[in-house]
Amino acid sequence: MHTATPIQFFPVSTNTETQAPYPSPIVGGRVELQLLTTLKCNLKCSYCSLGVGEVLGSQIEVEYDIEQLSAFIDTQLKGKEVYVTFYGGEPTLNKPLMLAVMQRFPGFRFQLQTNATLIDDLPDWALGRLSNVLASIDGGQATTDAYRGRGIYRQVIKNLKEVRAKVGGSITARVTWGNPDTSFEELDLLVGEGTPFDYLYWQFVADAQYGGDSLAKRQAVLVQMIAKFFSRTDVLYPLIPLMGMVRNKLFPSRAQELYAGRTQCRVSTHLLNVMPSGEIFPCPDMLYVPHMKMGDVKGNWLKASPLQLTSAMPCQACEAYAWCRGNCLKNLYNGYVKQDAPYRTEVVEPICELIRFMGREIDQHQPQTWFDQTTPPVRKLLLECEVYEYVEVMP
Ligand code: SF4
Ligand code: SF4
Repeated sequence: MHTATPIQFFPVSTNTETQAPYPSPIVGGRVELQLLTTLKCNLKCSYCSLGVGEVLGSQIEVEYDIEQLSAFIDTQLKGKEVYVTFYGGEPTLNKPLMLAVMQRFPGFRFQLQTNATLIDDLPDWALGRLSNVLASIDGGQATTDAYRGRGIYRQVIKNLKEVRAKVGGSITARVTWGNPDTSFEELDLLVGEGTPFDYLYWQFVADAQYGGDSLAKRQAVLVQMIAKFFSRTDVLYPLIPLMGMVRNKLFPSRAQELYAGRTQCRVSTHLLNVMPSGEIFPCPDMLYVPHMKMGDVKGNWLKASPLQLTSAMPCQACEAYAWCRGNCLKNLYNGYVKQDAPYRTEVVEPICELIRFMGREIDQHQPQTWFDQTTPPVRKLLLECEVYEYVEVMP
């Protein structure tokens, strides 16, 4: 009889304070470094989540240098496939850091989350290295300008068309669906002919915008989107949340494989938000919660994400759990752990209701029968679209 040795699942890194080895706090083989290059922004979007907790504008200068970042990566992320998202504030306002990181770590993948007002100032070589651009927009011209300021929609579309051919990867319209009157047509147009966008990703706004008939209005738009999604088997309607949900329903293991079964926005497993100060948090919307701190670039330490699904949250008994997997943990945390009752009833529950509604509406279209008739390129994109790695997947 031999004695079994414990299985070592993840590479071992070293705690630089004690020099003791410990298992990597990152779950899985990939890690996303979301570098907040500045918390300054050149726009004043009315719903900006960084406005919560006075985060926006609080850290303008980066306090760590590239050598400290490199040491952190060498020690804490050893053996991982690293991809970097430049985030902010508006990340292009700190172009020197962006470019320095891209030059220093040429083997990494890069994504830019931007309001796209300054993207045309980036050098061609940097645009060429981007795997994805997440460009924030709110819908059509009237909706976008109402949230972001007059003329912003036209400027964003013009800039993105100008750089489209130079961007190495995809461009994804990143919509915060705040206005209940947002129409199917204006969202559909974002992925129509002649636009600079390859994909549309939306998130339901984390704000009390779900009263009166606003849920019914959103449901009516979702019904149209889902009908369009299933209307073709030779072309994929490139709406990431629909793609992701259909994939998750047909192939539940895909909803789990990159996240060890945890939330698909990556906050519980492999998303590191690095503040300009070098402090690290799992969720970019919870930078003001001290006990969420999970590491520091300057101190070169990292621990496992404290933002996890708990038994206080209703997910495991939910009909959507197998394919939703806990959508937004910030919302669930605020609603069920912090027990913010108004937030739970006015934000979290309505969003969960919309997600369950989407699931039922998808089922009405017999997704398996649809998939059985799809072409190989449609299947490949549905299963493997790289943008799933850069967004929350669930809306
Ligand atoms: S719909 Fe809501 S309750 Fe259900 S699994 Fe998703 S986040 Fe959890
Ligand atoms: S979806 Fe994830 S990353 Fe986005 S706000 Fe919620 S918890 Fe944070």
